[in-house]
Amino acid sequence: MAYEFDLFVIGAGSGGVRAARFAAGFGAKVAVAESRYLGGTCVNVGCVPKKLLVYGAHFAEDFEQASGFGWSLGEANFDWATLIANKDREIHRLNGIYRNLLVNSGVTLMEGHAKITGPHEVEVNGQRHTAKHILIATGGWPQIPEIPGHEHAISSNEAFFLKELPKRVLVVGGGYIAVEFAGIFHGLGAKTSLLYRGEMFLRGFDGAVRKHLHEELTKRGMDVQFNADIARIDKQPDGSLKATLKDGRELMADCVFYATGRRPMLDNLGLENTGVKLDKRGFVEVDELYQSAEPSILAIGDVIGRVQLTPVALAEGMAVARRLFKPEQYRAVDYKMIPTAVFSLPNIGTVGLSEEQAIEDGHRVQIFESSFRPMKLTLTECQERTLMKLVVDADTDKVLGCHMVGPEAGEIVQGLAIALKAGATKQHFDETIGVHPTAAEEFVTMRTPVNR
Ligand code: FAD
Ligand code: NDP
Repeated sequence: MAYEFDLFVIGAGSGGVRAARFAAGFGAKVAVAESRYLGGTCVNVGCVPKKLLVYGAHFAEDFEQASGFGWSLGEANFDWATLIANKDREIHRLNGIYRNLLVNSGVTLMEGHAKITGPHEVEVNGQRHTAKHILIATGGWPQIPEIPGHEHAISSNEAFFLKELPKRVLVVGGGYIAVEFAGIFHGLGAKTSLLYRGEMFLRGFDGAVRKHLHEELTKRGMDVQFNADIARIDKQPDGSLKATLKDGRELMADCVFYATGRRPMLDNLGLENTGVKLDKRGFVEVDELYQSAEPSILAIGDVIGRVQLTPVALAEGMAVARRLFKPEQYRAVDYKMIPTAVFSLPNIGTVGLSEEQAIEDGHRVQIFESSFRPMKLTLTECQERTLMKLVVDADTDKVLGCHMVGPEAGEIVQGLAIALKAGATKQHFDETIGVHPTAAEEFVTMRTPVNR
């Protein structure tokens, strides 16, 4: 049968745009449907605007520390509306770049909601289109538990467009988004409480990293509460919000922000018209080639719920485009050693195994750890400390994991990730000459293992 398109991509986010552009570049006839915003979550309500707000929040400490270097500043004032307007202008510019990227690579862009009406058919804006392959790249959506009063809470989607900076914020959750936004609100001057339901936030990260960040956030004056879970939220006559915790305590706020994970975006996607199956958590189930239970339908990115990170969605998009239209260049995505950063203040950067994971995997580990006051702070009152940690296999000398909490941790860990990917041993680290004076050189000068 002749199809109108070789590939129909649903969703112009990180994964969808990458797959579409590369497939078109390999000579395929490609369409992309996008219902909301070009560039998807990352560009519009994710990585990019988040990082801009983190930069904004960071100025608070820069101003504070500047006096130690002889600068005297007038009273520093912050205007939320200016930050948001400038952020919006930048995002608008990026939307245009994404449009040009798609159109210039020969992709047919359809702006509207796409619904799958059959294994080879998609409906957009009332028009049906056929395709040999359909790629679901519809991403995810914030998930807020349905406690009484949950309608008064906001998610990251709304936080980027608040008209004013709230004076008092409760941030609920203990993952990436909660920790990052707590840092943004706190840094910009809101009275911020971070409430996490468990014993210690950032489950899955190295224990020393979690503890160190907790200490640093507390030092900065953020109210971090563990074993704290909201049972209900009540709007007060003056518009403020009363959060009643499961232990009966009551907290008052102007904004309750939930960052309690993201569900796959499958709303009105028409999966009932196909043989696509979902996994136990509700994400689209695919095999190692991203093929769903319906042979003509593939899925990548957040909607498959593997690793919800933009560079992973990009790699998966590229893999699909290559496998379908340039098989001789196909390379499977390697999910090992994915570096990641949490843009909390201070940042976390990490790659490879945590100490706990390495032990669980059966490694006999040697741990190298260093906590120090960075040189930049020595002329200031700031007591912040940086943490660096290496997890090494004691039998093979291979470095299994690198972890850092401190300024620019994400920037530093990106380079280390290449070393780990190449199989670097502790000896390679020891033989590497440091860049002096930097914080990063500490990663190649830690000599004595920690006595456990
Ligand atoms: P998305 O980028 O979500 O794209 C999906 C697209 O599909 C959307 O544009 C959506 O409108 C569209 N769509 C959905 N349904 C339909 C339909 N039926 N028809 C047409 N279009 C449809 N990752 C990082 O690596 N680093 C970060 O710093 C980072 N920060 C983040 C901060 C926040 C607040 C959030 C929420 C996420 C962050 N992420 C970060 C995660 C990252 O944004 C996602 O992993 C990434 O965007 C996933 O890409 P995707 O292509 O799977 O989906
Ligand atoms: P995460 O899955 O990272 O964290 C969710 C948090 O919410 C966990 O602490 C979880 O606790 C808690 N939680 C879940 N359900 C409830 C509930 N019912 N009540 C109270 N707490 C609850 O999700 P996020 O929303 O923070 O982010 C989604 C994903 O987006 C991330 O996993 C990451 O992949 C990506 N992202 C990446 C960023 C980056 O690269 N810098 C930045 C932002 C997002 P528990 O641990 O106990 O389950």
